[in-house]
Amino acid sequence: MALLSSSAVSKVYKSGGTEFVALDNVSVEIEKGEAVAITGKSGSGKSTLMHLLALLDEPDSGEISLNGMSTKSMKSQKLSKVRNETFGFVFQQFFLNPNETVLENTVLPLEIAGMPLAERNKLGEEILGQLGLGAKLQNKAVDLSGGQKQRVAIARALINKPQVIFADEPTGNLDSKTGKQVEEILFDLNKNQGITLVCVTHDPEFAAKFDRTIEVADGRISGQSNASPVDEDIAALIERSVRDAVSRVVAEILSKNGEK
Ligand code: ADP
Ligand code: MG
Repeated sequence: MALLSSSAVSKVYKSGGTEFVALDNVSVEIEKGEAVAITGKSGSGKSTLMHLLALLDEPDSGEISLNGMSTKSMKSQKLSKVRNETFGFVFQQFFLNPNETVLENTVLPLEIAGMPLAERNKLGEEILGQLGLGAKLQNKAVDLSGGQKQRVAIARALINKPQVIFADEPTGNLDSKTGKQVEEILFDLNKNQGITLVCVTHDPEFAAKFDRTIEVADGRISGQSNASPVDEDIAALIERSVRDAVSRVVAEILSKNGEK
């Protein structure tokens, strides 16, 4: 069973009397342990899809399931709890509190969860040490380089021991060398700690390093690379390739009909 799935989700943004369909009937599945890139051009709907899968936003139709359980009827308090316990987030803009220290920024999720100060600081120091920021614990976030800021954001994402890390253009504000380091950290977490990685990127070179890519164009899935999921058995693989083949044939027929 998929860890996460969207079933025919649509998202319509309404502003000033106009409606914009950002996602149209999108169904995807993310298996436990996979590293999946959501790719596509700017404005195609990548972030919108990630926000729905991450339970940061709700679809206008369709539903998101976690471990086969629909999240549709969950109240917002329950959704927040599930999100905080299950997911970690890394964004292009880092979203650190500039005037708080590296340690304070990192342990914020534990503070929200009500963990006592000494306990949360101990966990924070441990994880920051692992990410090479042991010497920066008391520095204000504002004083860090871009790469350091993103490592703090990764530390904060990891502090709750998440099952999934969602990253939205995590290297978008970094130079290529620093970006590569952040990529390596994320793939290391996936390969060595089994954390499922779902990452939005418009960078084809970065996308090519994932187990699988889901390509979005104009709010629809325009392509999916071959799945190479970790935990899937042969039967599921065959089922998936048959399904892929069928959908390719259907897409071909539809496009030929469109040409007439
Ligand atoms: P991507 O991440 O692929 O660049 P997004 O998912 O952010 O794309 O956005 C998809 C489309 O929806 C874009 O055309 C964008 O302008 C529009 N959009 C996104 N968020 C909003 C919003 N809050 N209100 C109105 N339109 C939005
Ligand atoms: Mg985006």
